[in-house]
Amino acid sequence: MANLDWDDLSFKYRQTNVMIVSRYKDGEWSAPVATSDFDFHLSAYAGTFHYANSAFEGLKAFRGVDNKVRLFRPDENAKRLQRSGHRLGMAAPSEELFTQMCCMCVKENIEYLPPYGHNASMYLRPLLIGTNPQLGIASSNEVLFCVMCSPVGTYSGAKSLSPGTAVIARDYDRAAPHGTGAYKLSANYATSLYPYNLAHGQGYRELLFLDPATHTKVDEFGSSNFLAIKGNSYVTPLSDSVLPSITNKSLQTVAEDFGMKVEKRAVPVEEIAEFDEINACGTAVVITPICSVDDKAALESNVVTKTYKIPSGDECGVVSRKLYNRIRGIQDGLEEDIHNWCLVL
Ligand SMILES: *Cc1c(COP(=O)(O)O)cnc(C)c1O
Repeated sequence: MANLDWDDLSFKYRQTNVMIVSRYKDGEWSAPVATSDFDFHLSAYAGTFHYANSAFEGLKAFRGVDNKVRLFRPDENAKRLQRSGHRLGMAAPSEELFTQMCCMCVKENIEYLPPYGHNASMYLRPLLIGTNPQLGIASSNEVLFCVMCSPVGTYSGAKSLSPGTAVIARDYDRAAPHGTGAYKLSANYATSLYPYNLAHGQGYRELLFLDPATHTKVDEFGSSNFLAIKGNSYVTPLSDSVLPSITNKSLQTVAEDFGMKVEKRAVPVEEIAEFDEINACGTAVVITPICSVDDKAALESNVVTKTYKIPSGDECGVVSRKLYNRIRGIQDGLEEDIHNWCLVL
């Protein structure tokens, strides 16, 4: 066992034993290898450095109540990375290679997999970068794919399901209309760092982006999707600039299992006033309940034009908690995996 306090992991980089690497060249992926050297030796001319020829993924492995190790929906991450690679004009690993390398990564670092009962897990970070030297703008024809991991607790170190505040970004977008918002590209994050820092500096937990074409509809939070509960409905924005979250997709299925109606549609900003519960959702924490949303004309200004108080307030909403518990239960082997989401190692 690694010498770690499983109850105090938060979400940060920790070196483990190895990462798993495969390289693509001349139409073929090399056999994946485990390496304890976490430093790349790459040309300074590699496309990833200059033009962000780079995409990534995030998924988790869990130690269950039955002591089994479960990977949550790796096939979905593999498919999403293929879509990202395609958008970059770059090769991406097959579903088989992707899953094989994720499994290798968990096994080779197994002492860093948190035991059951600490609400902690092993976060896997698959990374796809273009490596051939280039000067002109072009897609990369040599690619490095690696999977690294780190034991993690809750994202901010805060208690899980503790509600946070959000602010609307009206004068910053994370994605362009018809841009790359729906692909998990590294470049998307570069554009959101500055507004994210502003929001954090003002004490907000989350930054809510609007649709970049009209700024009248809700898109998503900086690194997580937007989901709301309204009566018996699960409401989430339908927009081509939103990243298709696997957590959101899973929560929608769970909501349907509970007999709720799932509404994937445009969400006007003003509708926030009508929601019973709002959450940010993503792999890192499943859901973060939102207790209030501030609207500002300019993120840099101190003037708040409107504050939406969410009725669930300082507690996680009842429906959201039920959805969360079902997902976590499946990941932990406490509930039957009726949709066959988990890959048991
Ligand atoms: C990764 C990501 C999410 C969450 O996706 P999950 O598959 O649920 O982890 C949401 N929004 C953005 C912008 C992301 O990059």
